[in-house]
Amino acid sequence: MARIQQLPALVVNKIAAGEVIERPASVVKELLENAVDAGSRRIDVEIEQGGVDLIRVVDDGGGISAEDLPLAFASHATSKLSTAEDLFHIETLGFRGEALASIGGVAQVTLQSRPPEETCGAQITCNGGELSEVRPWNGSPGTRIEVRHLFYNTPVRRKFLRTPATEMGHISEAFTRLALAQARSIFEADVARSLRATGLHLTLRHNNKMIYDLPASMGLLDRIAVLFGLDVSNQLYAVQAHQGPATLTGYIADPACERGTARMQYLFINGRWVRDRTLGHAIQEAYRGLLMTGRYAVAFLFLDLPPDQVDVNVHPTKAEVRFRDSQALHHLVFSTIRQRLRSENLTARLQLPSTMRPSETLGTPSPVAAPLDPAPWSLASPPTSEHGPALPFPSPQAPSLPAPVTMAPEPTPHLPTATPPPTKIIQLYDAYLVVETEEGMLVIDQHALHERILFEQIKRRIQSGPLATQPLLIPEPVELTAEQAARTLEHRDALAELGLGIEDFGGGTILLTSYPALLGRCSPQEILRAVVDHLISQERPPSREVLFNDLMSLMACHAAVRAGDRLTPEQMAALVEQRHLADDTHHCPHGRPTALLFSRHDLERQFRRV
Ligand code: ADP
Ligand code: MG
Repeated sequence: MARIQQLPALVVNKIAAGEVIERPASVVKELLENAVDAGSRRIDVEIEQGGVDLIRVVDDGGGISAEDLPLAFASHATSKLSTAEDLFHIETLGFRGEALASIGGVAQVTLQSRPPEETCGAQITCNGGELSEVRPWNGSPGTRIEVRHLFYNTPVRRKFLRTPATEMGHISEAFTRLALAQARSIFEADVARSLRATGLHLTLRHNNKMIYDLPASMGLLDRIAVLFGLDVSNQLYAVQAHQGPATLTGYIADPACERGTARMQYLFINGRWVRDRTLGHAIQEAYRGLLMTGRYAVAFLFLDLPPDQVDVNVHPTKAEVRFRDSQALHHLVFSTIRQRLRSENLTARLQLPSTMRPSETLGTPSPVAAPLDPAPWSLASPPTSEHGPALPFPSPQAPSLPAPVTMAPEPTPHLPTATPPPTKIIQLYDAYLVVETEEGMLVIDQHALHERILFEQIKRRIQSGPLATQPLLIPEPVELTAEQAARTLEHRDALAELGLGIEDFGGGTILLTSYPALLGRCSPQEILRAVVDHLISQERPPSREVLFNDLMSLMACHAAVRAGDRLTPEQMAALVEQRHLADDTHHCPHGRPTALLFSRHDLERQFRRV
């Protein structure tokens, strides 16, 4: 047990101060960090109502002596540093002595603690900054802290809180970051980390339900599997590199695991989760050419440096740091990932259509998007059913199990079977259709046009009542982070109107119970993931109208044929046939043109025939 002391004004002034408590998750983060700094082997977190009613953190660490209890709530009182010089060698997660003071100011807090060497512990309460006297407490060694009614005395801040599910999502994220940071080292030889990674048992409960239980012995990879699902943990490559005094370890994901946001790039500096633009850039650069624009790699990276190489005292929530030599670290991260990806020989795999994903840039042909071998596509289509050959949808990936029911309860939007083309159509670059029409030569962007048609179909169906849904006989589990799950479940009603039925399965897993029949053979999983990515990338919850529009165009984009899909003559004819059905066939839902016309007259004039 270390003694707490008030920092001298000289040190206080050097501390990057700021409000640290903005929501329940900030409280959880600070309390977890304190428990880790106290050398705990086990930390239990219990939450009620998204942390608004109760946050309880119980640890078995070094405790606080009875005399120090009032000081714990004093601002700028800490046991973790004493001189300004110490700020440059920080090895603990906390150091400012501000967190308990801020929490005590905006909630009703009970702090009970007993250093293991004492026979009896003590307790104190702090209600909106008002301290009680210290009383004896007969508990087991360690510290138990309860934070009730957060922001009870600051109604304005309380108003900014979102639903318990959303707040719980943020709490899970804070818990996840710490659980990863404290996972055992992945490499036995990595002495620095295995010394620090003590093997910490962590649990998180919400409303008496266990959300995560991570035993001390559970390694990083298993923690990733529990926190993010097997589809992430199964696609990881271990990395390890040294450069001077710096060590980089962790996992990077296969490019196929890409996401719509950079949130799954977890970076830990000396056991602390941080955001860092330079290193984030290094990660993305390393994946350059393997991901489409606007897509982000998934990575879990641990960088260990001598404490004097990194300044953690620059950001109020300590979420950003300053490196002494950030260029060297950029190089370390970039070259380590690049080499690892190269050693997996991923470049060859890029050529296969199965790794293609639609993205905002579709339609702009990129070298990555162009599959060299069209064979798999042509084999996959057209699938035959009792309705005859279906649409020109590629099946990008075998739909994950269980397969959706195949009988459609309403006419599918699939392009109808067409008799051999009445008009002349040829496909160029597997992306454009050139059509001979009365007015001239029409060049169609196949993806943009199909997307537009589907978009309007979905829109019309929705206007004429709820979308027909295709129930999944066995609901399909989709593993997300708890935060993503919570943010997605918030929109459950809107998604239901769009035919996407979801249910909470707990632990970050969402069950997909139905999907819009309209989407035919498109992988429902993939649609849901795209929807989640979209929701997560929004700063604030979108208005219903915006959400609908976004989701409809997302669905249309995913279900539509893509650039790189080779179409049969029948499929081309069907697509061109559908042009007149759409109101605005000139623009895709994102506003890009779907077709360009070179009028016959223009052609003749250019060739000086007229
Ligand atoms: P900081 O962590 O920056 O020092 P805090 O306000 O979070 O500041 O905590 C103040 C002090 O209270 C810490 O320095 C530490 O001595 C003590 N403390 C807080 N939580 C615990 C805990 N769970 N176990 C032991 N000591 C604790
Ligand atoms: Mg602290």
